Formats: sequence, C-alpha cells, structure tokens
Amino acid sequence: MTADSQETLRGQACAVRWNLRPFIDGAYCDSASDGVVATVDPATGEKLADMAAGSTGDVERAVASARRAFEDGRWSSIGAATRRAVLSALADGIVERAEELALLDCLEIGKPISQARFEATALAPAFARFCAETVDKLFGVVGNTEPGVLAFSRPEARGVVAAISPWNFPLVNAVIKVLPALAAGNSVILKPSEMSSASALKLAEIALAVGIPPGVFNVVTGLGSTVGAALAVHPDIDFLSFTGSTQTGLRLMTLRGSSTVRPLLLECGGKSPSVVFDDIEDVAAVAARVCADALWNQGQLCVARTRLIVHERIAPALLEAVRAQIGAFVPGDPLDPDTGFGVLAGRTHWQRVAEMVARGVSAGADLVAGGLPSDQGGCAMAPMVLEPRDADNPLWLEEVFGPVVAMRRFSTCDEAFRLANESGYGLAATIWTRNLDIAHQAARTVRAGEVIVRSVPDDREGAGFSLPQEAMGGSGFGVETGIEGIRSYMNWKKVEFHTATGF
Ligand code: NAD
Repeated sequence: MTADSQETLRGQACAVRWNLRPFIDGAYCDSASDGVVATVDPATGEKLADMAAGSTGDVERAVASARRAFEDGRWSSIGAATRRAVLSALADGIVERAEELALLDCLEIGKPISQARFEATALAPAFARFCAETVDKLFGVVGNTEPGVLAFSRPEARGVVAAISPWNFPLVNAVIKVLPALAAGNSVILKPSEMSSASALKLAEIALAVGIPPGVFNVVTGLGSTVGAALAVHPDIDFLSFTGSTQTGLRLMTLRGSSTVRPLLLECGGKSPSVVFDDIEDVAAVAARVCADALWNQGQLCVARTRLIVHERIAPALLEAVRAQIGAFVPGDPLDPDTGFGVLAGRTHWQRVAEMVARGVSAGADLVAGGLPSDQGGCAMAPMVLEPRDADNPLWLEEVFGPVVAMRRFSTCDEAFRLANESGYGLAATIWTRNLDIAHQAARTVRAGEVIVRSVPDDREGAGFSLPQEAMGGSGFGVETGIEGIRSYMNWKKVEFHTATGF
C-alpha cells in the first residue's frame, strides 16, 4: 500500500464532520441534556468529537416517535414487496457510503481500515440483503381442521424494538440488530455503544434517504447506565435486543424483569475454543488459521477462538508453528491500508486487558508465545499465548476480549470436549480433525451456538448468515440470523375462523 492513500485517509479523517447527537423522527436533534462524552481515537489518543451523553428525555422522545410510526402503519403495514425493495436499497446505500462508514469505525475503535472496509462493503450489506430477501418469506402456517374452520398463524411485528449494541463491530452490529427488526415490520430505537456511535447514526441517515419513513429507525446516543437502562425499563418497549457483555446482559434481565413482562434477546460474551486433534496434516497452515481465528479485530470478537485445546502429541509442533505466526501480528496504524492488526479500542479497555493478563499470570500461567503487555501509554498490544497451570485460572475461564489466547493440552477425546465445555459460555467452537467419528461427537457434545469442524484450513465462506443459531450458557439466548432470526422479532398469533361453510 502506498503512503499516498494513508495520507489521503488522514486528510479525510481530519475532514470528518462529526454529528453525534440523537437521530429521532428522521432528523438529528439536540439531546435533552447538556452532558457530553468525548470520543477518542485510540490510535492517537486524540479527541475526535463530543458525543451527546443522552438522557431519559431523549429515550422518551424516541419511544414516542417509534410508537407513533408503528401505530400509524407507515412501515408496519406496507406490503412485503415494498418493504423488501426499501431494505435492498438500504443494503445498496451501505455499499455506496462504505468508505465513509469504514473510516468512522476505524477512527472510533482503532479497527484496521482494510477490515472496516470489508465489513462495510461485504459483511454489513450481505446481512442487510439477507434480511431484505426474507420479507416476503415470513409465512405463517395453516392448521389441519374440520370443514368450515380455517385455523392459521399470523406472524406479526412485535411493535417497538429497543436494540443495544457494543463497540467491537460498530456498523455490522448495528445492522445485525436493526435490519431483522425492520424486516419484520417493527419500529426501532438503537442505542450504540458510547465508544462507537458514528456509523450507527450514518446508518439511520442512509435508511431515511432510501425510504424508511421518519420515526421507524431512531438512534439515541449515550451511556449504558442512563440511556441503555432507560430503554430496558421502558414499559412501551415491546422487545429488547441486546448484544454486549454477559455482565450487562445479566443486568438487563434484572432491570427488564423488575419492570415489565416482555421478551428479550441476549447475545453476550464468549470464550470459544479451537480444539486441535493430532490427525491434522498441515500444522503450519492450521497454526495460521488458529491465530487468525483468535486475533481478528485484535481478539475483540465475541466468537474469537481464544482457548486453544491441543492434543499433547501435536502440542509442541503446533506451538512452534504458532510462535512463528504470531510475530506477524504487529499493532499498526489503523489508517494504513496495509495494517492487518490494529490497536485496542480504548485506553481503559487496554488497562482492563493488561490487568486480566497480570491476574492470570500471578495465578499461575506460563507465556508460551508472543509477549506480555508492555505499556507504552497507548492502546497497542501485541498478541500472546499463555498456558495456565490450573483449570480455575481466570485466563482460562473468563472472557478477556483482547489478543490473549489460553492454551491447554489433552490426551483423550472426552477430555478435549470436557475442556471445550469448561467455560460457562457457549457461542462458538472449531474442531480440527480428519476423523469423522470425532466430528460427529463434537457436533453433538460441544455446547455452542456454532460448531465448525475443519479438516482443512480453507477460506470457503460456508452458510454465512443464512442459518439460525442461538447462543448457549452465559453467552445468551434467542435466535439471531437465518429466517428464524427475523422471526425472533415477531409474535405468533393463532387465528381461527369458524363459519357455516368454507375452507
Ligand atoms: P458492554 O456490555 O459493556 O456494552 C454493550 C452495550 O450495552 C453498550 O451499548 C453499552 O452502553 C450498553 N450498556 C452498558 N451498561 C448498560 C446498562 N446498565 N444498561 C443498559 N445498557 C448498558 O459490552 P461492550 O464492551 O460494548 O462489548 C464487548 C462485549 O460484547 C463482549 O463481551 C463481547 O463478547 C460482546 N459481544 C457479543 C456478541 C455476540 O454476538 N454474542 C457480538 C459482539 C460483542
């Protein structure tokens, strides 16, 4: 990559006109409170902008706007073909403004621009398109009844949906929360993370421009403890959809349960394993993939495979290959298109990760690859692999959400699956083997919403967003992705017509 385009991006970064205020009823507006939160570029430590800290007043306005929009049917009652066309246009709109969206995510959380571009040109629009294409396929079913009775199910939008999203994939997470809700006909209020609200606000602008009526997609910026909590307890929110840490998910269950009987969907944290059996062929290629699966987005990924569970026979060779690979993950300038590994999302987060590593090391964990965190005062952190001596080491059990891999060795298949299931989480798992019996056993035994068995480190994309999946254990509940994921945002009403003649 040329220094030129890095310079161009720097110029574009300086020219960004930040507008981090609530987007309600189809327009930006001033927050009801004067409070602000500084948005800081983690790569430079420089302040980018002030974001409205938000307030319960903003939440009230957004809920009223979304409710009005839902009840008058401007979106909830339009035909499936129109809704589908508008959501397809939204997917196109994301692609058209991908460069702008990618730059915002890169600046706000230190994500390498190449990855932010991939997310804005490929991941986010692909999911938006999938949602658009489901709209005219959200069928009910007709019951088997006696003559004169017509019994059928009527899938209906839930109403007003509040969505709360995290910072690690700002645009993609916003799309994953909002598009299924819109496809199902709901009105939405999105509260993005206070660390990364710019691309979510842009998404709302794009949605309005392509024909999503005002009030159907609102964004309230602000802190979780105020804006998020106000959404959680609001009696006029019909469905709460959350992505974030397990700790916050637990808090939301308590908040929601103490105020109202309404459903919620929780996509929470993870501590996912890569389990490597001793029949793999190309150790170097597997090591490369194991590193990539653990370290994408600097390890700040819910499904990052940050527990490496290796057969003892192959562990020395795999570890040697991992050591050779891990040196390539050098934190670089996120604005440089050649950078593949950026910085952590903020200084407070950096300190949290470093403290967790220190806690794990003092509880008994050996560094086996990479290097321990070295504090240069910024947010750069090179990756590391540690081998805990005991099963209760926090590095083995707790989500770190950084470039930190914990490794353990096994000798039998049962032991491997026991280790895989040992954290309380259940988001994802990869099993490396060429043995079909082990593959079947893994699919059955491993407690995770997604189990991927690999005999080769290929780049085929697989099912993408088309299949449903549901987290297990401390990773949450509720189906996301697939057509069933859209149905999470719908009520199923049973209807019967009893008439003298007919059906
Ligand atoms: P977080 O839980 O701190 O925050 C997530 C969102 O919740 C933010 O918008 C935040 O403002 C809000 N929030 C915080 N406290 C709140 C409260 N008391 N009431 C209401 N809202 C509140 O998580 P994070 O640090 O932003 O993101 C990292 C976490 O997200 C990790 O645990 C990661 O595994 C998880 N995550 C999960 C998935 C998934 O699909 N399972 C995807 C991405 C991230």
